[in-house]
Amino acid sequence: MIAQTSGHHHAFGCTILGSGSKGNASVIHGPDGNLLLDAGFSAKELIGRMERVHVDPCSIRAILITHDHSDHTGGCRVVANRLGVPVCFIPETVSELARHPNRMPGAKIIITPGSPLELCGIHIEPFTVSHDTPAIAFTFSVGDCKLGFATDLGFVSNLVKSKLSGCSMLVLETNYDPAKLRASARPITLKRRIAGRQGHLGNPDAMEALADLLSPNTRHLVFAHLSQECNDPEIVASLATARLAELDRPDVSFEIASQFEPLETVWLE
Ligand SMILES: [Zn+2]
Ligand SMILES: [Zn+2]
Repeated sequence: MIAQTSGHHHAFGCTILGSGSKGNASVIHGPDGNLLLDAGFSAKELIGRMERVHVDPCSIRAILITHDHSDHTGGCRVVANRLGVPVCFIPETVSELARHPNRMPGAKIIITPGSPLELCGIHIEPFTVSHDTPAIAFTFSVGDCKLGFATDLGFVSNLVKSKLSGCSMLVLETNYDPAKLRASARPITLKRRIAGRQGHLGNPDAMEALADLLSPNTRHLVFAHLSQECNDPEIVASLATARLAELDRPDVSFEIASQFEPLETVWLE
């Protein structure tokens, strides 16, 4: 894995433009163009962040949407129409967006969990995750390199484990620290929803799942979708350091995605 651009042409990589409860978007770089995965910032912010990490917005060929929540779809219609690209989503997400004025992009591609698609030279597999609205996660593969990307999931099901196996790079949700969630001023019903099987993945759930999710070829992890109020990057970092030591995986590096700043592009090939 190469962490930085060095002038020569890379075929496959991932740039997290931002991740958290207030907005999510990433660029998946392919041999034949780029994809935007979720569009949970304003179009202006999305394009500004792309330019900050030297991604030409005109290189985006399509937008993939995981689910209807506004932290994943807020800028979807405007950015899709401005870039003139189609949006790929499941029928349930289309129905949800149709209920709100001004959320529906012009060009739509309906995708089905379990049915792979090819875009930009990338083999893409959407699969169902458990969340409080119909939601999917994705794996992206080019050659032998596989990237798994799963946020907004209440628990790591057997399906999720099998789909995310063998990834060179894995982006996984660490939404909340249970003690901080309990201590927060949120209503008890919301706390239960977040921590429930159809909510979000907490730090201990994610760390526990690493035993199943790490493969011999896994090189890089990104912990994503941290709650600003109920989590702390330092807590996640210390848990991850301890967990990787416990699993005897000093070869695996990790980063923590930020709500505010893009991460540097990770090149897988
Ligand atoms: Zn979300
Ligand atoms: Zn969500």
